[in-house]
Amino acid sequence: MTAILEQIKTVDPQETEFHQAVKELVESVTPLLAQTPEYVMAGVLERLVEPERVLSFRVPWVDDRGKVQVNRGYRVEMSSAVGPYKGGLRFHPSVNLSIMKFMAFEQVFKNALTTMPLGGAAGGSNFDPKGKSDEEIMRFCQAFMGELHRHIGPSTDILAADIGVGAREVGYLFGMYRRLRNEFTGAMTGKGTGWGGSLMRPQGAGYGCVYFAQEMLATRKTSLAKKTCLVSGAGNVAQSTVEKLIELGARVLTLSDSSGFIYDGEGIDMEKLAHVRLIKNVRRGRIEEYVEKYPQAIYTPLTADMESNPLWRNRADCAFPCATQNEINEPDAYHLINNNIKLVVEGASMPCTPRAIEILMGKRTLFGPNKATGAGGAALSGLEMAQNNMRLSWTRAEVDERLQLIMKEVHQTCLDTAARHGTPGNYINGANIAAFNKVVSAMQDQGVV
Ligand code: GLU
Repeated sequence: MTAILEQIKTVDPQETEFHQAVKELVESVTPLLAQTPEYVMAGVLERLVEPERVLSFRVPWVDDRGKVQVNRGYRVEMSSAVGPYKGGLRFHPSVNLSIMKFMAFEQVFKNALTTMPLGGAAGGSNFDPKGKSDEEIMRFCQAFMGELHRHIGPSTDILAADIGVGAREVGYLFGMYRRLRNEFTGAMTGKGTGWGGSLMRPQGAGYGCVYFAQEMLATRKTSLAKKTCLVSGAGNVAQSTVEKLIELGARVLTLSDSSGFIYDGEGIDMEKLAHVRLIKNVRRGRIEEYVEKYPQAIYTPLTADMESNPLWRNRADCAFPCATQNEINEPDAYHLINNNIKLVVEGASMPCTPRAIEILMGKRTLFGPNKATGAGGAALSGLEMAQNNMRLSWTRAEVDERLQLIMKEVHQTCLDTAARHGTPGNYINGANIAAFNKVVSAMQDQGVV
């Protein structure tokens, strides 16, 4: 099965993140493929690594000085075998086709695990929202949707949030979509709760990964109560992860952004978290500002030349990387295991490098891969779509109950599948094989398309 990896590397040598995502899946499913010649004959892997459609488009917009700026927009529609394409939009200067393809690839399997009939896609732009005025954000979103609107729809491709896209951006994007299409349909999730959004949509990914962590710890007869936790990131996933961890009695010590991290030995409580939300969501400032209000906390700046992130050198029981891809590398993983970390749950997409995963798993650390642990965000989008289709809104308690059930089921599926395939406790294999089976059996049923 290394042939497929060689092939994608030859065709698109620069797409390193995409290669990484494919390699991880292929490693898990290789033994299964060896016993399933019909999958090999049907070219399922070859089809899965080739997006059904890739859109790349110009996004011209006018900045506050009246100068025209041009960014590149993308939508990678990876697979619609299980349901309509659905997945996040990321606005970040690092966005390129490799990142879009890795996100879309992960999304196919993450969505498959949610138990809902959803295909996978991802999109975004190399636009940097940092330092932009609200008006610039609006003009950019309108220009982006000016092209994308013709390719999406509630039964075709549904857009969700990712890095750099939150309630404000979803509002501007949806406003333009509605205007251009002259219809009010659920082609986006993360909408305002007064106009079709689901309660708890922003909490789906963070709460979901904490629910998953709870299930993982229960297999070792322990819980999150009184556990010390390192959380990276300070965006939507990190904020809601911290919120649920606090609720469940854990002590959260850290948060970060691309400039640095804060360590609060007393633990981040609900009041401090509210202040983080004010800094990040309202003032759109830096996490460094946390120490102005809470001077007992320590701020450590991060610089580009650091070979590892000092955040992961702190002693704790659990780690929740909720910032971005490849944020835990080999030295970081060694620091974590040397400090006796017991559980690593991925809140972000692909935050651990393959080498880091190998090191963590080698030490029997409970390791939750984002395809499974991040299924809560994807599932909440599915729940928003369901409510839109029925034109009604569920209460917070109803949504939360469904989310908890889904995360329990995803966890059990991973555990059972891993055990059935001879790797008990290996959540990576469990998630990859279960999701792969679901997508591939849909492909087999539908013929060569
Ligand atoms: N960025 C989110 C993820 O990767 C989007 C999920 C969604 O809401 O569909 O899970």
